[in-house]
Amino acid sequence: MILRARVVVPVSQPPVENGAIIISRNRIRAVAPWADLRPRAAGETIDLGEVILLPGLVNAHCHLDYTDMAGLLSPPKTFTDWIHLMISAKAQWGYAEYARSWLNGARMLVETGTTTVADIEVVPDLLPEVWNATPLRVFSFLEMTGIRARREPRAVLREAVEKIEALAHPRCRAALSPHAPYSTLPELLRLSAHEARKKGLRLTTHVAESAQEFEMFVHARGAMHAWLRRNERAMADCGLGSPVEHLARNGVLGKNFLAVHANYLGPKDAALLATRNVSVVHCPRSHFYFKHRPFPLGRLLQAGVNVCLGTDSLATVYKAHREKPELNLFEEMSVFAAAHPGLSPKKILPMATVNGAKALGLPGRIGELCRNAFADLVAIPFAGKSSDVVQATINFSGHVRASMIDGRWAIAPD
Ligand SMILES: [Zn+2]
Repeated sequence: MILRARVVVPVSQPPVENGAIIISRNRIRAVAPWADLRPRAAGETIDLGEVILLPGLVNAHCHLDYTDMAGLLSPPKTFTDWIHLMISAKAQWGYAEYARSWLNGARMLVETGTTTVADIEVVPDLLPEVWNATPLRVFSFLEMTGIRARREPRAVLREAVEKIEALAHPRCRAALSPHAPYSTLPELLRLSAHEARKKGLRLTTHVAESAQEFEMFVHARGAMHAWLRRNERAMADCGLGSPVEHLARNGVLGKNFLAVHANYLGPKDAALLATRNVSVVHCPRSHFYFKHRPFPLGRLLQAGVNVCLGTDSLATVYKAHREKPELNLFEEMSVFAAAHPGLSPKKILPMATVNGAKALGLPGRIGELCRNAFADLVAIPFAGKSSDVVQATINFSGHVRASMIDGRWAIAPD
C-alpha cells in the first residue's frame, strides 16, 4: 500500500513535501517524495490530500484507568492532600468503573494521535481484555506499592511477575512499576530493578514529583514524612539524599528505566540520570495542575537526559467550567511549548515521538517514519506554509484525520 500526503514528517529526517510511504503488512518499507515512489505504485494508493503525515505519538506516561475521574478532584493545596482525595475516590470504584474508564481513555488517545502508550495499571485484572479491545500499542506497567496493605515486597513483586508471565500479546506487553519512592519500601525497588534487568523488562516509577517527597528524602521531615510515619512506614531510608539518589542506591537507575516527573532535583541528580541513561517523562498539564515549581528542563537537557512527554491521568488535568478534558498528547505539547517559549518546536516533537520510542526500547520501530519501522502513523489536516510544518504539528488541536497502528487503520481516512 502507498500513502501519499502533502507533507510527510518522519521526525528522524527533515519533512518531505508531496511525500509518500510504502507499507507492507505491519511495516514501513520506504519513505520518499511521491515522484520517487510513484513508479513502485503497484498496489493500492491512498492520497490523503492536504495533511501532515507523521509517526503516531508515543505517550510515555498515562493512567488510562483514571480517565473518568476527570474533574472529580479540584487542584489540592498540597500533594499529600491530593493523595488523600485520590484514596477516597478510588475506594468508591470497582472493576466495572476502571474497565470503562480505561477504554474511554484509550479511545481518546487514538482520536488524538497517540499510537503507543506507557500505561500504569492499578487493576491488572483488566488485562488482557482491555488490550484486545483497543488498537493501541500498550506497555502496561503493573503498579506495586504494599505500604498501606503492609505486604511483603517479595510477595508484591511475585504477584506482578506471575501476572506478566501469564500475558502474551502480539502488540502489547507488561512491565513493572514500583509506584514511587515514598509509597514503596527500598526492598521492593531493589527486587523490582533486579527482576526487570534479569527478564529484559521496562521499569517505571513516579519520582521527585512533589516538594514534600523531596523534603521527606533529603531532610526526613515535612507533611509527607509525618503522614507516612503515622502510617507506620519504616522511615530509615529518609535523610540520606534526594529521591533520585534513593533510586540510585537501590539499583533502579538504568537504560530500561523511565523516571516520571523528576520535578525536584538535587544538585547532582541531572548528571546522575544522564550517566545511567535514564529517560525522564514530563507531564505538562499534570505539572500545571499541581503548581509545581518550574520543570528543570534546562538542567536535564544540558546533562543529556532523554526527555519524553506523557499525559498522566485526567484526574490531574485542570478542568475549567463545563470543559471536557481529554487525554491528548498534542495538547501536552502545546502547554509544554507555552511554558518553555525559548524551545524550538523541532526539539518538542521528538519528545512526543522518538524519545519515547528510545525510553520504551523500540527505537527505529515506533515514533518515527523510516524503513522497517512499524506502520504506526497519523494524519492531521494542514493548510499552512510548508516552512511552518513542525510548528503546525505541535499546535494541532482536535482529532486526527486518520490513524494507523501496526499496519491497520484505527481511524480510516474518509
Ligand atoms: Zn502518574
